[in-house]
Amino acid sequence: MDSPLPKQAVLRFAPSPNGLLHLGHAYSALLNYGLAAANGGRFLLRIEDIDIARCRPEYEEAIYRDLRWLGLDWEQPVRRQSEHFSFYQQALKDLIDRGLAYPSFLSRGEVREQVAACEAAGRAWPRDPDGAPCYPTEERKLDRAVARRWIAEGRQHAWRLDMAAAIAAAGDRLAGRALTWDDTGCGPQGQTGSIAAHPERWGDMILSRPDAPSSYHLSVTLDDALQGVTHVVRGQDLFHATAVHRLLQVLLDLPEPSYHHHGLVLGEDGRKLSKSNRDTGIAAYREKGLSPPDLRLLFARDGLVLDGLLLG
Ligand code: GLU
Repeated sequence: MDSPLPKQAVLRFAPSPNGLLHLGHAYSALLNYGLAAANGGRFLLRIEDIDIARCRPEYEEAIYRDLRWLGLDWEQPVRRQSEHFSFYQQALKDLIDRGLAYPSFLSRGEVREQVAACEAAGRAWPRDPDGAPCYPTEERKLDRAVARRWIAEGRQHAWRLDMAAAIAAAGDRLAGRALTWDDTGCGPQGQTGSIAAHPERWGDMILSRPDAPSSYHLSVTLDDALQGVTHVVRGQDLFHATAVHRLLQVLLDLPEPSYHHHGLVLGEDGRKLSKSNRDTGIAAYREKGLSPPDLRLLFARDGLVLDGLLLG
């Protein structure tokens, strides 16, 4: 019998147009592009503009300009997440119908007060891997009829994953297997290989809110599956987020890609680059007269290489 053809690799670079791309984005984009080319794979660009309040058309234009300058090309049409809210909302509805998501009404200030009161009493409040306080879990049990009435009255609300219910539902689907992912790169503490996922560390994470009808976690997971992405190659800053993506993949019956989290390009001060610092923007290097190959020397300062990496 003929053996099945190996699946063609599909890689993607998925920036958010809420600022200018910096040197770290250049590394990520070039790495994805190079891996796709070296493996006879496809390279996709996806614009992650669900945060309609912070994303701007001029930043999207700058993304195309910067990537073209780097020498990249990508398939058309480019998927822009803001054009697909109804797709993400179908999945949200599915989670709601299965009792895995609930509406939350506490304001940021009310959450802050609860955290402060708890910490003032000498008890630690749970914090997510980014250091932000997890959302209180008290509204998981809010009477559905009351919640419906508040929504009908127009009270501002977000939808959140009931993490305990979600982990239990995923457990049923996994039937004894652990929730893990395979990483050919590494996490911030050097974690590599088969990684145990701990989505519970994120608490009841947000799935949609009034000013962004889908969350990063929900839309990135759905789009990677829809677009047939086989290898997610992205910065180490998203390493812990992968636990939530794996949980959603199990809950929504989506395929599991391979992951490669790469090291970050750091600033002169040794800290993570920020989109708000124009000096480390790709455009700033272009304007200084550097050429794309010159950037490789800057990546090398942080031990980041573009060649010789293999897809798992
Ligand atoms: N849109 C995300 C960002 O700009 C990246 C998404 C991903 O690579 O998973 O940070």
